[in-house]
Amino acid sequence: MSDSGSSRPASAECVFCRISRGEIPATVVHEDEDLLVFEDLNPQAPTHLLIIPRAHVASVDDLHDGERDLVGGLILAARDVARSQGVAEDGYRLVANTGRDGGQTVDHLHVHLLAGRPLSWPPG
Ligand code: 5GP
Ligand code: ZN
Repeated sequence: MSDSGSSRPASAECVFCRISRGEIPATVVHEDEDLLVFEDLNPQAPTHLLIIPRAHVASVDDLHDGERDLVGGLILAARDVARSQGVAEDGYRLVANTGRDGGQTVDHLHVHLLAGRPLSWPPG
């Protein structure tokens, strides 16, 4: 993946970097060399997965222009996992909470995949 190497050193403390390294257990449903998909610890829907890059990117706002492949990989992984989890037909929501007002609580870029029930709009 482009631009995810030495310019993105792993964080020793970051909880999602630690999950990526296998130091904290998680229920992983898909992984490859660039990204990881695992179940959210506190699910808000019958299916609630988190898609993260292995590279430590703090948030959407921290992305570099050269990281299009990284971003695209997250969305395509979400598409594939939604299909393999059997929720693609009924539909799902992808969310990337960003910053304080966005409700981001873990400072490692992640996309929530929520599915398995009708999701209301607008969000709170
Ligand atoms: P945010 O609020 O930053 O958009 O989402 C962070 C998500 O990470 C939350 O939904 C929270 O439940 C989840 N989370 C936080 N710590 C852990 C953890 O150690 N393991 C897993 N599987 N999920 C976590
Ligand atoms: Zn991290």
